[in-house]
Amino acid sequence: MDIKNYPAEPYRVKVVETVKMTTREQREKVIKEAGYNTFLINSEDVYIDLLTDSGTNAMSDRQWAGMMMGDEAYAGSKNFHHLEETVRDIFGFKHLVPTHQGRGAENLLSHIAIKEGQYVPGNMYFTTTRFHQEANGGIFVDIIRDEAHDASKEIAFKGDIDLKKLEKLIDEKGAENIAYVCLAVTVNLAGGQPVSMENMKAVRELTNKHGIKVFFDATRCVENAYFIKEQEKGYEDRSIKEIVREMFSYADGCTMSGKKDCIVNIGGFLCMNDDELFQKAKELVVVYEGMPSYGGMAGRDMEAMAIGLQESMDFSYIEHRVKQVRYLGEKLKEAGVPIVEPIGGHAVFLDARKFCPHLKQGEFPAQALAAELYLESGVRSMERGIVSAGRDIHTGENHKPKLETVRLTIPRRVYTYQHMDVVADAVIKLYEHKEKIKGLKFVYEPEQLRFFTARFEHI
Ligand SMILES: *Cc1c(COP(=O)(O)O)cnc(C)c1O
Repeated sequence: MDIKNYPAEPYRVKVVETVKMTTREQREKVIKEAGYNTFLINSEDVYIDLLTDSGTNAMSDRQWAGMMMGDEAYAGSKNFHHLEETVRDIFGFKHLVPTHQGRGAENLLSHIAIKEGQYVPGNMYFTTTRFHQEANGGIFVDIIRDEAHDASKEIAFKGDIDLKKLEKLIDEKGAENIAYVCLAVTVNLAGGQPVSMENMKAVRELTNKHGIKVFFDATRCVENAYFIKEQEKGYEDRSIKEIVREMFSYADGCTMSGKKDCIVNIGGFLCMNDDELFQKAKELVVVYEGMPSYGGMAGRDMEAMAIGLQESMDFSYIEHRVKQVRYLGEKLKEAGVPIVEPIGGHAVFLDARKFCPHLKQGEFPAQALAAELYLESGVRSMERGIVSAGRDIHTGENHKPKLETVRLTIPRRVYTYQHMDVVADAVIKLYEHKEKIKGLKFVYEPEQLRFFTARFEHI
């Protein structure tokens, strides 16, 4: 592994937060009390927290300064206008509706753009996105390319939509029965896999022919733009901002979780060009979020988000971000640990099927592996497999995703390469005695988004 390929942090440390070191004995007690669910562990008991990159970002000095400039007026805050200007400049959409986080935007969009019984094709599902689509009468259809479901297939732009699948769906169901295409950049559950510009363009052309709208899940669009610059012909010399702007020129709007690529701790928004849809969104946002000029966010949070978005356009920032994730992945790969390939933008996904071949999917191998990794090292990760996939809303059967993974998600601007070394060592050590990892069973299974609060015990 050539360390020269990995740029050092393009920032210096101004404030530090001490983390607690724990003993194995302490962690044994903690994980048992948490019902073997890493979501139920207190942050205090975690050494390196790779549960998620959502809202765990470190803000810059400029963002913190922006927090002091919060205009907390109930209506018409100047921070809203700053955010609106910034989002228009970067994404190019006409209208912005702020929300408390990404799922708030998903709720609004699903409400206003889906009619009972309509199909919502997407490049793999995301938990909250699909929930809101289904809760509003939509039928989710996965139209991602087949390779995305194969953890070991190393190809570029594994998040692309399979145009044939989309075409077939339009032919079979009729364009009028498709609410919109939901295109995620990058695809979280496929391993943070990017979508090519060529694919976005082709999806736009096909949907235009049929008068179907396209909404992007913009959550990790800056990471996606980096992959395009790095790997797609013709984009080598384009700036991240230019690439992002072109990406969104192929969409009618987007939902955004500010907690990821906006480099803040809370917030989100919904964008669109359509005036009528915007009117409906504004009527609904007051019910669920707040006035259309704050949508569940404080003025200071909107300010920090506007500044974070601008900072995310910096090439050095996003290059370091993606390459730090890659560094961890390459280390594990070199040691023979099975991971999802290629390594995505925000996380390294352990392939739990291969890591724990002695466990059946019904014994929750990824859940068990995440619990064991915490026990072993104090590193917190998350299950992204059968538990996250939940049950079919109609039949009550477990969805059985092909990908059974543990996600090691890297927060933005928080940890160093040395922390990545600690994580890699812990995973490699665990892999050496993987057959000792025991399967789990539910002792409490919530009805919705069960992975957040479910409890387990050893079989
Ligand atoms: C996090 C996430 C969301 C939901 O956003 P929240 O801010 O957590 O509500 C939607 N889509 C993707 C791909 C995400 O990663």
